[in-house]
Amino acid sequence: MQKPPLTLYLAAPRGFCAGVDRAIKIVEMALEKWGAPVFVRHEIVHNKFVVDALRDKGAVFVEELDECPNDRPVIFSAHGVPKSVPATAEQRQMIYVDATCPLVSKVHIEAARHHEAGLQIVMIGHAGHPETIGTMGQLPAGEVVLVETVADVATLVVRDPNKLAFVTQTTLSIDDTADVVSALKTRFPAIIGPHKEDICYATTNRQEAVKAMASKADVPCLWWVRPILQFKRLVEVGVKMGYALTHSSCSGHPI
Ligand code: SF4
Repeated sequence: MQKPPLTLYLAAPRGFCAGVDRAIKIVEMALEKWGAPVFVRHEIVHNKFVVDALRDKGAVFVEELDECPNDRPVIFSAHGVPKSVPATAEQRQMIYVDATCPLVSKVHIEAARHHEAGLQIVMIGHAGHPETIGTMGQLPAGEVVLVETVADVATLVVRDPNKLAFVTQTTLSIDDTADVVSALKTRFPAIIGPHKEDICYATTNRQEAVKAMASKADVPCLWWVRPILQFKRLVEVGVKMGYALTHSSCSGHPI
């Protein structure tokens, strides 16, 4: 039977963002400089082939610093870490390399600057995500409060409604975040925020690419080794553009 012609469009940009690419290079350079094993706190990239290749060269992936020996180098992933992590590494006199993406570091600096100005910070992000934990961990407990949704804004308890600033996680949905920012500004008119929310260009561009393809493609295919946050946000963008979700992921993880 004659099959109808198939036109494939490739989204651009796609693949690793610059922050992850940089973190992978940092692990490779550390292995060259110090030899194996080099410990990596948190998976540096959600890609089995890259992780396996680094593992073969001598990288050891761990979740927490207490899984690392004192006498081997440790790399902190692109998500960023709470201040307590490098402080502990210093106490233990470990060699550590901070591979935090500069765009995440920018958010850390923003939060610290607002804190110095006497403001309490509202972070828009996902509870339990390493980046959220890292950003909230830049300041003493209670100085950063988390909201995930518009509903959270309604019940948010703050120290002083006139002394607030907000920051965002870098990998959020642009559209959902705009709604949360709008709710924050309505409830706390004096809240200060970045000129443009902190969602990074890599996240923004990939979500825009999915939107751009909606006018061209009948079926969008999103491939990701594991359904990490960025992938989930892209799926949501596709669903909002009217596509039906048929497979949650190739590896069977629920979205
Ligand atoms: S902030 Fe953006 S560019 Fe940096 S690691 Fe995260 S997704 Fe990548």
